[in-house]
Amino acid sequence: MSDLKSIVESQARACGFDLVGITSADDFTSDRQAALESIRDGHLDGLPWYTESRVMRGTSPSELLPGARSIICLGLSYWLEEDSVAPGPRSTGTDQEQHPKGRVARYARVKDYHRVMKRRMRDLVRSLERELSSEVAARWYVDDGPMLDRAAANRAGIGWFGKNSNILNPEFGSWVFLGQIITDLDLKPDAPLKKSCGSCTRCIDDCPTGAIVAPYVVDNSRCISYLTIENRGAIPKEMRPLVQDWVFGCDICQDVCPVNRRARESGRTIPPFALGRESGGQGRIDLVRLLEMSEDNFRQRFAGTSIMRAKRVGMQRNACVALGNAADGSSVPALAKALVSGEPLVRGHAAWALGRIGGGEAIHVLANAARSESDPAVLDEISEALVESAGR
Ligand code: SF4
Ligand code: SF4
Repeated sequence: MSDLKSIVESQARACGFDLVGITSADDFTSDRQAALESIRDGHLDGLPWYTESRVMRGTSPSELLPGARSIICLGLSYWLEEDSVAPGPRSTGTDQEQHPKGRVARYARVKDYHRVMKRRMRDLVRSLERELSSEVAARWYVDDGPMLDRAAANRAGIGWFGKNSNILNPEFGSWVFLGQIITDLDLKPDAPLKKSCGSCTRCIDDCPTGAIVAPYVVDNSRCISYLTIENRGAIPKEMRPLVQDWVFGCDICQDVCPVNRRARESGRTIPPFALGRESGGQGRIDLVRLLEMSEDNFRQRFAGTSIMRAKRVGMQRNACVALGNAADGSSVPALAKALVSGEPLVRGHAAWALGRIGGGEAIHVLANAARSESDPAVLDEISEALVESAGR
């Protein structure tokens, strides 16, 4: 059994994974309980697909693969030194370079990890079949299946649960994509790491929205990651200033984590894409250009990246919030255009941003829009923005 395990480990590394750990296919009883409590406490509100029955399935590996005996847990670091992020060609327009920029979470600065992870996991299963000269029953998941990926990684010794709910690995920190292969191979399990966060509370203290409501418990409805990605509706008004300049996800609770300070770049990671054409890399997007993008431009620019998950309308909503927080008068013309020609969700958030920026031009644009707007939710946003801008 241990020979088989070393074959799995060496093939996993050959297929491009940084971390590999094994756990049994036993049910995840305590993690199931914690996930069910989180649902019942409302911390996963807004994710209608995250149901109790999904948790029950995802914590019973033998339901996902009859005859399952082991889970091969895999990790791939996505940490990139900022300087190694390819900037892409720079824009020549000087006005564009002065527009405010929005931040994108690190994991989205590389190409969409789902495809890469799944391809590498499929390669691993095929290479094991070749090595063993027999078929291997297997199902594999990245974070888009029912498996509780962090619970599996924790039990397989890949890392321990941080108080921000991420898995912390001593070598790569929490900048790690996780994958699992449930299989009928009988492999010796690894032991969980004997490590913890100790008395540290940095992530809880520094979360700008207070989303980490207790150690290991994140309230989704307050988390910038949820608000800017999965959330399809309006960002609650009281949360908008707290979102700062994030337009896709948030890294704050990982950036402040002392374990992540020691993280190193992996030679195996996924290539970055030229996110920051106008800003020279650093995971920043020109907000005005984002707001002005057509559907075709959006697809051309972000195809094959995680940013597609938020869709163009979601990213333009987020751009409005970040522009309102930047309160930079140079963005008024772009917001004015969005206020009359965007989707209702974008129009409402453009009004909010104009209210935050204030000044004669913003007030004039808002007053004009109030005369032609027919959507009641957008009209409400415009009325509030007029009150807000008058006070600035
Ligand atoms: Fe808070 Fe951002 Fe971490 Fe969410 S991702 S818990 S908003 S610091
Ligand atoms: Fe744990 Fe501190 Fe890192 Fe939070 S910041 S995950 S408490 S080590």
